[in-house]
Amino acid sequence: MIELPVRDPCDLCVAAREERWKVVDESEHTLTVINPWQFEIGQCCVITRRHVATLLDLSDPECAAILTSARRVAEALVRTYRPLGILTFQNNGVYSGQETPHFHFHVVPRQPGSDWGIGPPQLATFDAAGRMRGTAHDPAGDAQRRARVQVSAAQLAETADLIRSNLPR
Ligand SMILES: [Zn+2]
Repeated sequence: MIELPVRDPCDLCVAAREERWKVVDESEHTLTVINPWQFEIGQCCVITRRHVATLLDLSDPECAAILTSARRVAEALVRTYRPLGILTFQNNGVYSGQETPHFHFHVVPRQPGSDWGIGPPQLATFDAAGRMRGTAHDPAGDAQRRARVQVSAAQLAETADLIRSNLPR
């Protein structure tokens, strides 16, 4: 049984309905939003318009729309930031690291020297991920790490505008 995180109200429903400046791109089934914690500059998430929790809850049209939206924003991120790579990942349930009970698919432009810690576990052990290979993740530093990557609403809006301007037509 997949245990879901509790977030009431759901912050991704709020982002979709009330904080329109966060929306970089949209389709019939998805919204692409800027991540409020910029572990990487330009980090975005594709979310479903519908409030559903995990991969297991998606319809077939939503599945297709999510990857199409992810590819669109990945193209924009490449044009905007010339990253070393594009990382995508998605967590289902508390034990996979899911923090918000609303489906979201991360699309992350990777740059050298970034400050990952709460990201997916494979980053903790791979060279050039900002940590020595084999070093265990110490969750004690997560609060400070989150504080370091929290940027102002104005800066997030500016980043969202920049990415939006580089979306494929
Ligand atoms: Zn929601």
